[in-house]
Amino acid sequence: MKLCLPKGTKDILPDQIHLWQKAERVFAEVCEQYGFSEIRIPTFEHTDVFERGVGNATDVVRKEMYTFEDKGGRSITLRPEGTAGVVRSFIENGMGSLPSPVKLFYNITAFRYEKMQKGRYREFHQFGVEAFGSSGPEIDAEIISLLCTFFERVGIAQTRLCINSIGCPACRPTYHVALKDYFADKVSDMCEDCKARYDINPQRMIDCKEERCKPFVANAPRQIEYLCSDCRTHLSGLEKCLSSLDIKYKIDPSIVRGLDYYTRTVFEFVSDHVGTQGTICGGGRYDRLVETMGGPSVPGIGFAMGVERFLMEAASQGVSLAERVPVNLCLVHMSESAYDQVFRLAHRLRRAGIACEVDLMGRSFRAQMKYANKLGIPYMMVIGDDEIASGMAKIKRMIDGIEVEVRLDDLPEQASIFMNESTKEN
Ligand SMILES: [Zn+2]
Ligand SMILES: [Zn+2]
Repeated sequence: MKLCLPKGTKDILPDQIHLWQKAERVFAEVCEQYGFSEIRIPTFEHTDVFERGVGNATDVVRKEMYTFEDKGGRSITLRPEGTAGVVRSFIENGMGSLPSPVKLFYNITAFRYEKMQKGRYREFHQFGVEAFGSSGPEIDAEIISLLCTFFERVGIAQTRLCINSIGCPACRPTYHVALKDYFADKVSDMCEDCKARYDINPQRMIDCKEERCKPFVANAPRQIEYLCSDCRTHLSGLEKCLSSLDIKYKIDPSIVRGLDYYTRTVFEFVSDHVGTQGTICGGGRYDRLVETMGGPSVPGIGFAMGVERFLMEAASQGVSLAERVPVNLCLVHMSESAYDQVFRLAHRLRRAGIACEVDLMGRSFRAQMKYANKLGIPYMMVIGDDEIASGMAKIKRMIDGIEVEVRLDDLPEQASIFMNESTKEN
């Protein structure tokens, strides 16, 4: 039987990896400039972490998790997102006693058993941040501005920021009553999920994707009309911060986010280019999550961005994430007797930090030249018995044939001087 990938997974091949590396590098760089530190959490956790941290009523927990019993009889789940694991770590490592706010970022793979569609994978990648300890709207604005800076630095334009407030435990019950009133005579015509949500958390009915539910949802009351005065103050505080940073936004009362733990601020960056809904990135505030998971009462806010979707967006906007190919030198040997020397030269060059290639296939002189050409290696040095006897050889720039003669003994230094200077000219 032929071996193949499981459905919903993919290889990231060498011809694509530079896109990922560039995105990862810029994301880490921007996060650090905003004072966030990287955290790495395990790929799997006890299932409770997600049941409590993501919420039992969510589709993620009810339908999409990769849960299994390990050989010790424990219920283990591959992380379907990053926040719950980071919060577990925040609590377990006593980070609540660190100076506030505690600002963390991550770059993870996550796993959800989802329907296959364009740009969706069952193993996918996320960039995210979580910030703990600050309840004011300033940190919400800081996180949003971090994303703006990231998009700007990678060259992505045309993203729209939509914000909303989904209230707090003080104002939510009134809203739930309003929702239940509204849906009371409609729920019997809605999907099975909505019927379940009606009792567990009617707010989740608002982002139902079923066609038969959409007409009912369209006219449902919105949380933003039911905010308490603290929530209203928080939202207007965020608006003020965004305006002072010249960040354009729109209030979109339909954003509720797919996870139960959000309070107050929720936001999305939306594009018209991508996939099904065009959401590149979403986040929000979760002031009760740390406490819900057994930690101190510490507010938090974060976002997650699907890297696959982000890269699709970059491609659709024609953004090049390609990096300059490292200056690369091919050492071509002309004879069997020169090979040993050439092999050692390559070792010396690499130790000195110069990327170079040397024949490993027993190729003939002509075949080596052809190989170098095929790979597009920009510099070549041919070494035969004469070069070894005289201790001098020529480095040639392939694009225009310009050559310089160097002493083999001084090779790493002289080669790098020539290659750096002639690369700059280009
Ligand atoms: Zn409220
Ligand atoms: Zn529904």
